[in-house]
Amino acid sequence: HLTKAMFSDVINLCKSVNLNFVEQGTYIYMAEFFLKKQMYTDAEKILLDNLISVEKTGYHTMSASYYSQLAELYVFQGDYLKAESFAQKIVKTKPEHQNAKSIATAYKVLSKVFEEKKDYDKALDYFKKHNEVHQLKLDQNNAKLLAIQKAKFDAIEKNVQIALLDKENTLLKIQALLDSEAAQSKRLALALLTMALVVFILWTYKNRKNYLEMRYFAQTDELTGIANRHHFAQLALSAITLCKKTDQPVSFVIFDLDFFKKINDTYGHIVGDEALKMAVSAAKSACRKNDIIGRLGGEEFGILLAGCGNHLAAHIAEKCRKAIEEVNTSASGHQFTLTASFGVSDSSICGYEFTQLFAGADRALYQSKDLGRNQVFNYQTNTFAFDT
Ligand code: GH3
Ligand code: MG
Ligand code: MG
Repeated sequence: HLTKAMFSDVINLCKSVNLNFVEQGTYIYMAEFFLKKQMYTDAEKILLDNLISVEKTGYHTMSASYYSQLAELYVFQGDYLKAESFAQKIVKTKPEHQNAKSIATAYKVLSKVFEEKKDYDKALDYFKKHNEVHQLKLDQNNAKLLAIQKAKFDAIEKNVQIALLDKENTLLKIQALLDSEAAQSKRLALALLTMALVVFILWTYKNRKNYLEMRYFAQTDELTGIANRHHFAQLALSAITLCKKTDQPVSFVIFDLDFFKKINDTYGHIVGDEALKMAVSAAKSACRKNDIIGRLGGEEFGILLAGCGNHLAAHIAEKCRKAIEEVNTSASGHQFTLTASFGVSDSSICGYEFTQLFAGADRALYQSKDLGRNQVFNYQTNTFAFDT
């Protein structure tokens, strides 16, 4: 689809930017175009007009292309003399400056020229040479095509490799994603486990707290905060058993607040409650650290003194009595005297039976009440432990 105008455009463009070399090359293609269209005069003019300037460049390969076009042109025109002269120029060019196409044309032209001269030996000779070069040209072309094909295959192989690497990369990414998801699952499981453990610990703690609370309420007298009758009996029983086992004395003290009904009647139950708390607190402060004190009921209390004989027990009871007597009741809003009567028994007379110890102390307490109150009566000696 080439036209003469197209060539003119290219040439004008080359001229405007001084691309002489490309311009000279374009004339070769232009001449070829004219030759194909059998426009011999145009082809000849273009080639001859530019030949000298091409030769001046010293680029022999290009010059050879000009010669081969001219040689072929003159064969077409039947000017064998000129055709031979240009073909010879090509043949005489140094081998390193020859190009396969030009030399093939030159041999073809010379073969034709010698055929015309009826020198058939030479004609055949040149024809053979033409064939050789032509073959060489074909080989070179084939080699070029092979190289192009190889480059194409290499590129395809590279693309395949890139695609494979891409896939591998995607796989690795998926693997990493899966790994991170697995790690996340593990973390989640661990978090859930920790949470479950925390909930369990909290639940156990709450349960234990509830249990301790319930146990406290079950064992403790609400008003005074000391052991209730049931719990006191349990503690006393185990202490007595231990003393029996280790062959130690044990004493039992019961005390009852004197005329407590009167306090209630005079100041009211609330003041009576306060008086009960004060009496207990005073008795506790007079006892030793490990003595067991409990509320037996109403305004009656028991103290179990482990490792304590009759004599020491009477002393501790006396300390309690004094402490109660000295209670300052003004914090209750009223000033009055608080006293208690005490009965003391011990294992040397009553043995290690809780009920016997209890009964002995109770009997002594009655004696104490009967004989004037606010004193400590001893069951063993059947006498007041101290003169008040
Ligand atoms: P005694 O010297 O003979 O022991 O005389 P008492 O008045 O102390 O004896 P009584 O058994 O006649 O009275 C005991 C009183 O203790 C009766 C009861 O109302 C009172 N009392 C018992 N428990 C409580 C209590 O928890 N709070 C109050 N405020 N009073 C109580
Ligand atoms: Mg009383
Ligand atoms: Mg009583």
